Amino acid sequence: MSQKVILTGDRPTGNLHIGHYFGAVKKRVEMQYDYNTYIIIADVQALTDNFENPDKVRKNVKELALDYLSVGIDPTHSHIFIQSMIPAIAELTVLYSNMVTVSRLYRNPTTKAELGQKKSVFGNDGESITYGFLGYPVSQAADLTAFDCEVCPVGDDQLPHLEQAREIVRKFNHIYGETLKEPEAVLSKTPRIKGLDGNEKMGKSLGNAIFLNDTTEVVSKKIMNALTDPSKIRKDDPANPEICMVYYYHKLLNNPNVENVCNECKKGLRGCVSCKKELIEKMEEFLTPIRNKRKYYEEHPEEVDTILKEGTERANKKAAEVLDRVKKSVKIDYFE
Ligand code: SF4
Repeated sequence: MSQKVILTGDRPTGNLHIGHYFGAVKKRVEMQYDYNTYIIIADVQALTDNFENPDKVRKNVKELALDYLSVGIDPTHSHIFIQSMIPAIAELTVLYSNMVTVSRLYRNPTTKAELGQKKSVFGNDGESITYGFLGYPVSQAADLTAFDCEVCPVGDDQLPHLEQAREIVRKFNHIYGETLKEPEAVLSKTPRIKGLDGNEKMGKSLGNAIFLNDTTEVVSKKIMNALTDPSKIRKDDPANPEICMVYYYHKLLNNPNVENVCNECKKGLRGCVSCKKELIEKMEEFLTPIRNKRKYYEEHPEEVDTILKEGTERANKKAAEVLDRVKKSVKIDYFE
């Protein structure tokens, strides 16, 4: 295949929500026909934060696969695989651990921000920080290079990790000779999708997300509770749609009636209840085909298993080739 290689994926820590969809997954579905696409279900990385809860990670591997298939990731074009089933990634991680200093890992801005959050939660000076957490960018470098990844779509918060991976590649190639491909970052142009509560980020654990597998009842309830302009008390009060999450999602879903929503809201010609009901209708139009596809795969679990096994086999074959090349360069290829 002469197409450029792309690697994307998620940690299996929960279902995907519409923030994931509009922020990243929609683009992946479009790109899979133009790139040789590897999609990683990063269970080992999920364990860095959830090592005491393996059941959660295990359950979400299948859930994530169902989410991918239901939104249109096409297993005949994309290799969907499970990270822990690619032993070459683990071996590369060990070899790359010599390519980066501990102080450089601490200086990674994303790691620093996450460390700050952990310290504020656990209130200590790093006692709870594991080697696995700190080494996360090293394992990401292994993920990317294991498939000769050339293109990696990232959000701005992931950029420091990618830069660290690129540094590891450069150092490796400098010491051992040209062996690894240096992945290039493609920054996501889609802004982060806001939560139902107006939070800048829709998050799995923030209680402000609409999940792709939410039922009609759950979606309706969530939208009815979404943040609107708090100054609008009565139905005919004029309001500011720009600070209303309902209007924000009307725009996100490309509601053709969005201009009317805006004008009527500003003039006090629209009540919030009917505005929310219209959004529920649009959200249902968007989610129904996704739910239907999910239902098909839920009823055919053996098909999902086959897709994962075959994707993982293809990924394993490629990663083993890269590992052979790496071992040759490091001169640890002892026997034919
Ligand atoms: Fe928001 Fe619609 Fe109410 Fe205006 S009328 S504040 S856009 S829900």
